[in-house]
Amino acid sequence: MKISDVQAIYPRYNHPAKTWRTHFWQIVVRVETDVGVVGWGYGGGGVGSVEVVNRHFRELLVGQSFNCAEEIATLWDALYRACLPYGRGGIAIMALSGVDLALWDALGKAEGKRVCDLLGGQRRAKVRAYATGQDAERYRDLGFDAHKSTQLRDGERAEDMEQLLSWAERARTLFGPQALLMVDAYMSWEADYAEEVAQAVTPYDLFWIEDVLQPDHIEGASALRKRVQPLKVVGGEHEFTVHAFKHIARAQALDMWQPDITWCGGLTEALRIARLADAEGIPVCPHRGGEVWGAHFLAAGYGEDLAECHMGNFAVKQHALWLGEPQPIEGFIELAEGLGFGVEVNEAML
Ligand SMILES: [Mg+2]
Repeated sequence: MKISDVQAIYPRYNHPAKTWRTHFWQIVVRVETDVGVVGWGYGGGGVGSVEVVNRHFRELLVGQSFNCAEEIATLWDALYRACLPYGRGGIAIMALSGVDLALWDALGKAEGKRVCDLLGGQRRAKVRAYATGQDAERYRDLGFDAHKSTQLRDGERAEDMEQLLSWAERARTLFGPQALLMVDAYMSWEADYAEEVAQAVTPYDLFWIEDVLQPDHIEGASALRKRVQPLKVVGGEHEFTVHAFKHIARAQALDMWQPDITWCGGLTEALRIARLADAEGIPVCPHRGGEVWGAHFLAAGYGEDLAECHMGNFAVKQHALWLGEPQPIEGFIELAEGLGFGVEVNEAML
């Protein structure tokens, strides 16, 4: 089939507070084909990546044909090469991610298959989900047995530590001894604070600390990792393409990689990252893996049996951008039967 049109759209979100997300949150990409199949994808980069798709990628894609995953990868490589002078990471690769996912969606629909079947078939009937957010009690009541809390280092050091420890104690009591508990620092901790945390949380048996230092401090992460064992130092949601993960691998900087499938370069690049991770013996657990784009990757047997669910994104039904997206039930994500990624875009938000 041939690509007849490509369009990126910034949805009409109703962000409650002004942040970078106001204009630079997720985009929708629509790919039309000459066989009547329409593919939908989801990328990052907001109004910037909408421009990248509509003013650059579109003219390179219209008229091109693709009939298998390898041909999607060929188109991916051509777009990557075309945007090299301003790309390689950030908004350009977030835009490319949206295009890539739309092509996979179209391929699945054209073949009468789900994306996980294009990846070799469903190997996990359901995927264990973990709840990211600050409402531990609600997640416990919903049936989760894995939970991650964001604990920033942005106030008085002693107060930040006290808050973290009080969450850890409460969460361990709520969820019991078997549950997975994780902390996300969102790039706000210093290395010595992380070491102090690692010591202090020993009684609560945390599984990992995530996104601890700023992503360019690869050597810092590598050194930290050795100092806080057996606590895992994980991250990678702010990395783009397999090239970035090669640097992380070389520095042995992270115990687990968390590429975001809608940012790192789409499914095509997530598969390349997964192959590298496999060769390096590093587990992969995608950022926001419980959303439908990651859920197909995980259901097909890639990565760990662990899907991140940002519970804020799943909570408000009437504002859902993707209709038919699987919801976490009793702590698991299960794919629906729909072709491609199996979701419809909420046209009212476009
Ligand atoms: Mg995170």
